[in-house]
Amino acid sequence: MAVPQRRISKTRKRMRRTHFKLNVEGLVTCPNCGEMIKSHHVCPKCGYYAGKAQYLDGKLVKPETKKAPAKKAAKKPAAKKAEPVEEAK
Ligand SMILES: [Zn+2]
Repeated sequence: MAVPQRRISKTRKRMRRTHFKLNVEGLVTCPNCGEMIKSHHVCPKCGYYAGKAQYLDGKLVKPETKKAPAKKAAKKPAAKKAEPVEEAK
């Protein structure tokens, strides 16, 4: 088994460990409330992202889109298929 030839002194050990530190990266200030938040993430404090409220009282506020009704109609059959599976359980 490999063994160190010399004992590492307290000073050498401590000098090496001066570089062992945590760094916080990617934090920006929320433009709405000024809290430090992760960039490209919804603000956990006020729920804002891209200038809009994404979450209010823990519920997702869906962005308004003109194509939304067409997409909902297409997704309905898939939802009906999922329901019998839940009833079987
Ligand atoms: Zn915020």
